[in-house]
Amino acid sequence: MASARVDLDGNPIKAMTICMIGAGGFIGSHLCEKLMAETPHTVLAVDVYNDKIKHLLEPAGSHPWSDRIQFHRLNIKHDSRLEGLIKMADLTINLAAICTPADYNTRPLDTIYSNFIDALPVVKYCSENGKRLIHFSTCEVYGKTIGSFLPKDSPLRQDPEYYVLKEDASPCIFGSIEKQRWSYACAKQLIERLIYAEGAENGMEFSIVRPFNWIGPRMDFIPGIDGPSEGVPRVLACFSNNLLRHEPLKLVDGGQSQRTFVYIKDAIEAVLLMIENPARANGHIFNVGNPNNEVTVRQLAEMMIQVYSKVSGEPSVEVPTVDVSSQEFYGVGYDDSDKRIPDMTIINRQLGWNPKTSLWDLLESTLTYQHRTYAEAVKQAIAKPAAN
Ligand code: NAD
Ligand code: UDP
Repeated sequence: MASARVDLDGNPIKAMTICMIGAGGFIGSHLCEKLMAETPHTVLAVDVYNDKIKHLLEPAGSHPWSDRIQFHRLNIKHDSRLEGLIKMADLTINLAAICTPADYNTRPLDTIYSNFIDALPVVKYCSENGKRLIHFSTCEVYGKTIGSFLPKDSPLRQDPEYYVLKEDASPCIFGSIEKQRWSYACAKQLIERLIYAEGAENGMEFSIVRPFNWIGPRMDFIPGIDGPSEGVPRVLACFSNNLLRHEPLKLVDGGQSQRTFVYIKDAIEAVLLMIENPARANGHIFNVGNPNNEVTVRQLAEMMIQVYSKVSGEPSVEVPTVDVSSQEFYGVGYDDSDKRIPDMTIINRQLGWNPKTSLWDLLESTLTYQHRTYAEAVKQAIAKPAAN
């Protein structure tokens, strides 16, 4: 398998060792799966949890890839083993972060520490040891669009110049300091600037990924089933939870914000291209999203209701959505990105990547997974208080 694989320039791809920090999370689990199934690379998987990659690790020695993946349970905040693992690897991928909006305004210190301070040693060890780094940032570094500051009826709001987000041209526009929502975006922006500076001043080889709402199976958790009952995950899991419990979906501030959603499996293809084409990927910041899958959050809710009804065979509830204020849902200090359309020029030019999966199709496969994985557990959880 290894000898037949070539990069985008026709050169054979050599097997490499990858130190993947945050490998036990949503994106990490899909990336580990892809690397095990389709490449000869070895993964040193670093995380505090491994539930989402257990199927790749256990039973020990039973998979064709068993000798190519090792799990290292460690917290990068305080563990001296980190530098050794980075030194052993050819490439480090850093996915570790607090990255759930409900935390940004309620746990701003943890958010800033996780996204900036805890990432510092990773960057330092890569730079000092001459190792390549792929760092996961976020589309949220763009903040609000320029268009959002125009009068509501301005025709310029329809002009892509005022809303399409370009890695090398768009400004980063955040709200005031009291709007602690932006603690995450600001920390991510500063670590991006630090990595960029390590590249410019010390020649560190790096790529920065800005994911635009990647969604799919294993994203976050279902409150009260495999996560805290009072926890607030990202929108896919919030709406899945409502659908599984036959509750109305909650639309924050009317669900008017717009997002583009990309299927995790499409997005992982882009990351694999970065991993295996360093000459094309190094020194670049990449938007990774699907500009064709844009909806308002209200439209997303409506589509998820329709798709869930199809895959579960259950009719939708009488009142399918309710409006809720952001203050009530997230608390003080929440703010929102109005619209997120990724410009695709750089990733197209460097890696020839394009997303394939429509929003309907990605919701169909994801909600089939959610129903299969959680419907029975939710039914039992709902039945329990009544039985007591
Ligand atoms: P996730 O929360 O599922 O995964 C993050 C993983 O990092 C978790 O398994 C967590 O346990 C681990 N982690 C956190 N702190 C750690 C520490 N101190 N030591 C060891 N492990 C630690 O999130 P995800 O969706 O997979 O996101 C991965 C990265 O991509 C993050 O940096 C996030 O900011 C970025 N991102 C993702 C999206 C998306 O659409 N999913 C969007 C924007 C940005
Ligand atoms: N949202 C919502 N209802 C929910 C959860 C989220 O209306 O139950 C909204 C949220 O206010 C935001 C969008 O959905 O406008 C996407 O939220 P997500 O948590 O996925 O993260 P974001 O894209 O803002 O980073």
